[in-house]
Amino acid sequence: MNNNLERTGECKTCGECCKKVRITSVLSHIIEQHGSIEEAGKYYSYRGINIAMVHEESDRVLLEIGIPCDRLAEDNGCLVHGSPDKKPLICDRYPWFTDDIETCGYSFTRKKHDSLKWF
Ligand code: SF4
Ligand code: SF4
Repeated sequence: MNNNLERTGECKTCGECCKKVRITSVLSHIIEQHGSIEEAGKYYSYRGINIAMVHEESDRVLLEIGIPCDRLAEDNGCLVHGSPDKKPLICDRYPWFTDDIETCGYSFTRKKHDSLKWF
């Protein structure tokens, strides 16, 4: 978690963080490949991939793909919750940054000035 952010709240089991795949990529590599982040966004959008966040300071891009986790239960519970060998570590850590999921029961306050929105 970003040390400048303090997390409060709890999981409301809305399931929204389990309904998309999120992949972190390197902004400078994407620009090298595609010419610009806008060009990359066009290429990705034809394949159902959305650019969720661009952070120039940390040279990172967060990509989102609308593929839900197959361990998500109908009631939005996690079928592998409580099984450390099966539940991905990132799921236990989530959320560790200010996200854009409005139904999430967690919120963050900034401990000191920091321009980072995530990570
Ligand atoms: S493993 Fe569980 S917590 Fe992680 S994305 Fe899948 S359903 Fe959600
Ligand atoms: S988005 Fe937040 S409240 Fe919803 S399931 Fe994920 S951690 Fe829980």
